[in-house]
Amino acid sequence: MTIQDNLFWERVLELAQDKNAQAAYEYFVSEAQLLKVENNIATIYLDLEQKKLYWERNLEDVIVTAGFEVYVRQIQPHYVFEKTEETYETLQSSSSVAQDRSIGASLPFNSNQTGLKEKYTFDNFVQGPGNAWAKAAALAVSSDPGGSYNPLFVYGGPGLGKTHLLNAIGNEILTTTPHARIKYVPAETFLNDLIEGIRLSGMDNFKNNYRNLDVLLIDDIQILTKKVSTQEEFFNTFNALHGNNKQIVLTSDRNPDQLEGLEERLVTRFKWGLTQDITPPDFETRIAILRNKILEFDLQFPNETVEYLAGQFDTNVRDLEGALKDINLFASIQGLHEITIEVASQAIRSRKQDTSSVKVIPIERIQSEVGNFYGVSIKEMKGSRRVQHIVQARQIAMYLAREMTDNSLPKIGRAFGGKDHSTVLHAHSKVKTSLKTDENLVREIEAIKSKIK
Ligand code: ADP
Ligand code: MG
Repeated sequence: MTIQDNLFWERVLELAQDKNAQAAYEYFVSEAQLLKVENNIATIYLDLEQKKLYWERNLEDVIVTAGFEVYVRQIQPHYVFEKTEETYETLQSSSSVAQDRSIGASLPFNSNQTGLKEKYTFDNFVQGPGNAWAKAAALAVSSDPGGSYNPLFVYGGPGLGKTHLLNAIGNEILTTTPHARIKYVPAETFLNDLIEGIRLSGMDNFKNNYRNLDVLLIDDIQILTKKVSTQEEFFNTFNALHGNNKQIVLTSDRNPDQLEGLEERLVTRFKWGLTQDITPPDFETRIAILRNKILEFDLQFPNETVEYLAGQFDTNVRDLEGALKDINLFASIQGLHEITIEVASQAIRSRKQDTSSVKVIPIERIQSEVGNFYGVSIKEMKGSRRVQHIVQARQIAMYLAREMTDNSLPKIGRAFGGKDHSTVLHAHSKVKTSLKTDENLVREIEAIKSKIK
């Protein structure tokens, strides 16, 4: 019998217990045994023939439910009242599975095997609106592994802290339970271990490594899509762990439903627990992340520079960190200690050019072109009159200043008569939204842009 079969049987017993009175359960069910599952037929041993009727009337739906849960197929029962030689064999092999697992369980677990990166903790994970729920879920999992959020599925774009959170969960659990069997793996490593396992050791090693865990943290599972044989083994691993209330946490760049090429039964399982997304950090969070990371360097960053940097990289925390490393290198070569905006902008120039080319367009130029177009003076642009056509011109100019230059939001705000960065952000998102539906606006902005360039 496979681990899946065991899981199926556990589930049958569990559902039967929920459904039947205690006395009936004990009499009709507790002595029953699953002998094998083959061709969608579960052979079930009952010690007395009279019990069959009770099973047929009361427990067939339980078998169907458990069958769909575990195999995602319709399973039909076949009742037998003695154990033939063939069934003895099956039983023995099933107990050897159990033995394997307990041997694995008694192997000492070396903390080097966890694969965890110690530097990623909850302490140094900065919380913001985009990641607060994912962090809360990760904390909940850490304090109650295998509890209510199993599996936890975290998804989001690159560089937003998925790997960080995954490791933080593992590290946090280790602080309270130092001997917990925790494994962090990129899905890619899982894949390689599996291939190695098939090639070299007939899988025992692989199974020992993965099925005896208390917590499996598996990163970037989107790479498992379209790899059918891996999915099969991942499915088995998942069931073995989940069936024993062991915690599984998964990350992906997409939500489960968007994982095309992933078997439906896996998608279904991924959604059994809790699914949380991470979205890019807002301006304040980026500032907080930068302030945090800056402490690692022996450099002095005036607020202005921090704001400037937070304005430059707005979709990806990894880029923010990369920028600080560039600056650190640049400063050490130049022998600088204080990082002014000018120093920062020189240091990150090549990084910016990688993503979008740097255009040196003065904000004043944008203001005057937009002003000409809509008949609004620079003074009005910088002022705070809330007349419709002025407000609109002002917002469009702020939008373009953000799109066409590499100025930080605060700096753009200052160029508009000392407005707050949140005003710029608001203007930007308002215009961006209008552009989705307003074709006139699209044409107008294109016309203005072509004059500015
Ligand atoms: P992902 O796995 O989502 O691609 P990572 O977890 O590798 O992203 O994060 C990229 C870098 O950004 C890491 O060095 C990580 O520590 C850092 N990072 C991401 N989010 C945060 C955050 N909220 N607070 C602090 N550091 C973060
Ligand atoms: Mg990652």
